[in-house]
Amino acid sequence: MASREICLGIEGTAHTFGVGIADSDAKVLANEQSMYVPKEGGIHPREAANHHSEIAGQVIGDAMRKAGLSRKDITVIAFSQGPGLGPCLRTAATAARTLAISLDIPIIGVNHCIAHLEIGRAVCECSDPVLLYVSGGNTQVISYANGRYRVFGETLDIGLGNMLDKFGRDMGIAFPAGPRIEALASKGKKLVNLPYSVKGMDVSFSGMLTAAQQMKEESMEDICYSLQETSFSMLTEVTERAMAHLAKSEVLLGGGVVRNRRLAEMVGSMCADRGAKCFVPPPSLCSDNGAMIAWTGLIMHRAGVRMRLEDTGVLQRFRTDDVDVTWI
Ligand code: AMP
Ligand code: MG
Repeated sequence: MASREICLGIEGTAHTFGVGIADSDAKVLANEQSMYVPKEGGIHPREAANHHSEIAGQVIGDAMRKAGLSRKDITVIAFSQGPGLGPCLRTAATAARTLAISLDIPIIGVNHCIAHLEIGRAVCECSDPVLLYVSGGNTQVISYANGRYRVFGETLDIGLGNMLDKFGRDMGIAFPAGPRIEALASKGKKLVNLPYSVKGMDVSFSGMLTAAQQMKEESMEDICYSLQETSFSMLTEVTERAMAHLAKSEVLLGGGVVRNRRLAEMVGSMCADRGAKCFVPPPSLCSDNGAMIAWTGLIMHRAGVRMRLEDTGVLQRFRTDDVDVTWI
């Protein structure tokens, strides 16, 4: 019998400590997590890392029980090597090294942004998409070209999720503010003027944040509506530009912000106009999660990628295009 590979993946780049288990058929056997929610303000890296180390054992145990596996069934360990917050990354990496050493199995460090793309490709069954990846800290337009996933456009300042969360925090909306902003936006009608910042395939959001924070006359509903319409239009524009330049006909959405129905609707209608297809993974696989790390670690291992323990240091600024994509 051909040996079945089973990978346990640990995600820990920022607020979420996630543990996923995937097998060689891209079947997600478990996808458990615990999210650090700051009592006030934004994510404090050290406090998020403390949260991760406190709950690591429990989340790993939950994932094993959910998958109905015993430790000897796991054949590979993967972890999010970067990009992300240093203390959080180190906590996840330490948990992964501990498991790999104690089980005496290989360990693979995975690029977090690539993992968003690979899990989407697997579950949506698309082959060569342009990924619009919009999360708290990241906003990137990524696609495969000549052996690497390359970043064709990205935010020049903050990720769109951070922008929404920061705006929300000022307005007394708890983290993560995105879902509440979506609900308010659905009641807004008036499009108020906000900076629309697109440079080539890059975007920026800090000017929009400042302008929204300074608005005194408009209703919250109208500001939220305008924030969404303006920022999502920018993202739709740069995604379409990347598709046109690359002659690609699939878009894949990834990252927590794509749980927003209006964003999916806008990108979807742009794709329909071009005769292209738009794929949206289930919400649990859009946000940061362990299953995407497990699946990406598994396909990397299957393609012959090997890492020594010395190679598993975390990379806070790990770039998407730093990775040789040998598995395609
Ligand atoms: P991630 O970093 O990929 O886990 O995504 C987290 C980010 O997604 C946070 O900034 C949230 O505010 C944002 N988010 C989650 N749901 C929504 C939504 N429905 N609309 C907009 N942003 C959202
Ligand atoms: Mg992410």
